[in-house]
Amino acid sequence: MVVGLVVLGLWAPLARADSGPSLNFTVSLAFDALEQGGMGVVRVTGADIVGVQAQFLDRLIDFYQSGNRANPVWNGLLAVNMEQKPDTYPLEITVLYDDRSRETWQGQVIVRDAGFLRQDVTVSNDLGYLLEPETDRAERARLAALVDVVTRIHYWDQKGFIKPLDSEFTSPFGAWRLYNESLWGRHTGVDLRGPAGTPLLAPAAGRVVLAERLDVRGNYVLIDHGWGVYSGLAHLSEIHVTRGQMVRQGQVIGISGSTGRSSGPHIHWEVTVNGEWVDPQQFLETQVP
Ligand SMILES: [Zn+2]
Repeated sequence: MVVGLVVLGLWAPLARADSGPSLNFTVSLAFDALEQGGMGVVRVTGADIVGVQAQFLDRLIDFYQSGNRANPVWNGLLAVNMEQKPDTYPLEITVLYDDRSRETWQGQVIVRDAGFLRQDVTVSNDLGYLLEPETDRAERARLAALVDVVTRIHYWDQKGFIKPLDSEFTSPFGAWRLYNESLWGRHTGVDLRGPAGTPLLAPAAGRVVLAERLDVRGNYVLIDHGWGVYSGLAHLSEIHVTRGQMVRQGQVIGISGSTGRSSGPHIHWEVTVNGEWVDPQQFLETQVP
């Protein structure tokens, strides 16, 4: 049996017994395990800290300060690729102090199977070029390069994130999709019910980094919320923002539709954290500081 180092319960401080020599900082994980395509928050507190970084799943993650100046909290966002093999993975957190000394904490994070669904999707045959693997690959590569950039500004406020429209989820994140019985793909976001012509809202404040027509996603808006968090809205009939524009939470960024590789009007919302597509529903439920 694998024993995690995580104490159950929100923000419970971890026992330091597993960390070797006693450290001058405290690590708290806000989760007991992460699922494939899931994300979670790690908090570090301690005196005289000037910087925190984590190493997790081959990625270096910068931490950011919240709280007041006297008692700052350092927050890091961990994200798991939807294809990550369920297992226990090392998490290493290094703290830099104002006297330039550093300390490292070593722990583990359990990654669980997310139980993704399999779905068959049929799109119009005149969208045949959207069923070619190269079309998918090229678009994903372009988006991957954009969402890999971590902006060190925290654009969203204490209200957190909202859904782009007040509607129910109709199709889950991460599903294996077989399009027209020919092309396999993964669902990089969630679908929300909504007729064509519905105004779509920015889930949180941020900067628009893409606002144009893509092959698979159709008319698309991608917002950088800072701290490595992005959200994208696909299949719009109209785009109401431009690249580089700052948006506030709740601002109308476009109108829903069915452009791109879509089987009918709906809203596709996707979220990335530190370059990984994560489940927007789980992201919403997570108290991201
Ligand atoms: Zn979708």
